[in-house]
Amino acid sequence: MSKILHRSIHAELPVAVGGRGIELFDADGKAYIDASCGAAVSCLGHGHPEVLAALHAQLDKLAYAHTGFFTTEIAERLADRLIADSPDGIDYVYLVTGGSQAMEAALKMARQYFVEKGEIARRHIIARRQSYHGNTLGVLAAGGNEWRRAQFRPLLIETHHIAPCYAYRGRSAGESEYGYGERVANELEAKILELGPGEVIAFVAETVVGATAGAVPAVAGYFKRIREICDRFGVLLILDEVMCGMGRTGTLHAYEQEGIVPDLVAIAKGLGGGYQPVGAVLMGRHIYDAFATGSGFFQHGHTYMGHPLAAAAALAVQDVIREQGLLENVVKLGELLNCRLRERFHKHYHVGDIRGRGLFRGIEIVADRGEKSPFAPARKVHAAVKREAMARGLMVYPMGGTIDGVQGDHILLAPPFIVSAGQIDNIVERLGDAVDAAIAPGV
Ligand code: PLP
Repeated sequence: MSKILHRSIHAELPVAVGGRGIELFDADGKAYIDASCGAAVSCLGHGHPEVLAALHAQLDKLAYAHTGFFTTEIAERLADRLIADSPDGIDYVYLVTGGSQAMEAALKMARQYFVEKGEIARRHIIARRQSYHGNTLGVLAAGGNEWRRAQFRPLLIETHHIAPCYAYRGRSAGESEYGYGERVANELEAKILELGPGEVIAFVAETVVGATAGAVPAVAGYFKRIREICDRFGVLLILDEVMCGMGRTGTLHAYEQEGIVPDLVAIAKGLGGGYQPVGAVLMGRHIYDAFATGSGFFQHGHTYMGHPLAAAAALAVQDVIREQGLLENVVKLGELLNCRLRERFHKHYHVGDIRGRGLFRGIEIVADRGEKSPFAPARKVHAAVKREAMARGLMVYPMGGTIDGVQGDHILLAPPFIVSAGQIDNIVERLGDAVDAAIAPGV
C-alpha cells in the first residue's frame, strides 16, 4: 500500500520506472505513449541525453546557492536567453519553481508595482470564469474553476470574474466571431467601470485555456481589444502561459499569435520540460523600473527560486528546441494532429468540438452533438476515457467540470515536440478506440 497521499486516494496507479522518447514504462514493463506530456510538461519527451548531460555538468559544479546571497551564472544565462528569444517587451525575468508560484508572484508583483507608483487604491484582480491559475490560495482565488474553489471559498481573497472567450458555447447564432470576441472582451470594460477605474490592478487570463477546457484559443481580435481596454484604464495585463507557453502552440509565447504584448507573463511546464521543477515570470521594463526606482525590493521570494539545477535543465531544454528547430515540428505535426482528429472525430456523435493550436489540441465530448448537451456529471466520461486510454497504453489529459455554467468533458492532447507523423497516427487511433469504449456502455 502506498504511504503517499495521492490526488485520488483510491486510484490504483501504475508505478512509473522509466521513460525514453515519447514513452513512459511501468514496473510491469508496459509502455505508454505520453500524448499529453503529463500535463503539457515533457516537451522533449523522456531521457533526453543533452538535457541529462547539462544536469550532470551543473550538479558537478554547484547544486544550490540561496538567492539572498548569490546569483549564479546558469540562472543569469537562462534569463538572458529567455529575454533574447522573446519578442520586444520582455526585459526581465523572475525565476521560481512552478506554475502556481509564477502566477502568485505575478499577482503580488502587479500589486506592488502600483504601490511603488503611489497608486495604492488599486486592489482588484479581474479574471475569467473559465480559467485555472494554480492551486495555492491566491491563484485559486483568481481562477474560475468552481469545483476546485468551492470548499476553500472562505479562505480566498476577493476576486472578480468575467465571461471567457469560448466560441463553441458562447457565440450566439448569427453573431460573427469578431463580434463575439468584442462582446465578451467588453465585459472587462464594464467590470472595471463597476469596480472603479483606478482601483483595478490587473486582468488575468490564459492565452489559450488549458486544463479547464481543453485547448481553447480566443477568437481573432479578442486579446487586442483586451489590451486596448487595459491600456485605457492603466490596468496590467497578466497572461498565464504556464501550460500553453514555451512553444506548445507553435510560437515561443502563445500571445505572439494575438499581436499583443502583455505586462507580465507566467511560464512553467514546458520551460524545463519536466527535467526540473521550474517556472518564471517575464516582465516588461516598466514593471522592473517601478521596483528599481522605488523601494528596490520585491517583497516576495522562495527558498528554491533560481535553483541552479532548474536553470540548467531549462536552458538545456530551450537550447535543444532552438538548435533542432522543434517549433517548426510543433507547427507541422500540430497541423497533422488537427487533421487526424478531424478525420477520426468530425462526424462522431459524441464529439462536439475539436480545437487548439500547434501541439495543444482538445476535443469536447458531448452526449448529443447537435444539441451540444453534455453527459451527466455522474457518468464521469472524461475519467472513463482516461482509463480506456491507459489500458491501451496512451496518456491523454482529461477534465470534466463546470465551465461557465456548463458541465462538460474534455480531452487535452499535448504530445512532445519530438513526436513523429507515425506516432500521431498511432495516438489518434488509440484515442478513437478509447473514446468509443468509454462512451459505448449505456448510450
Ligand atoms: N496555470 C495554468 C494555466 C496551469 O495549467 C497550471 C497547472 O496545470 C498552473 C497555473 C499551476 O501550475 P503548477 O501545477 O506548476 O503549480
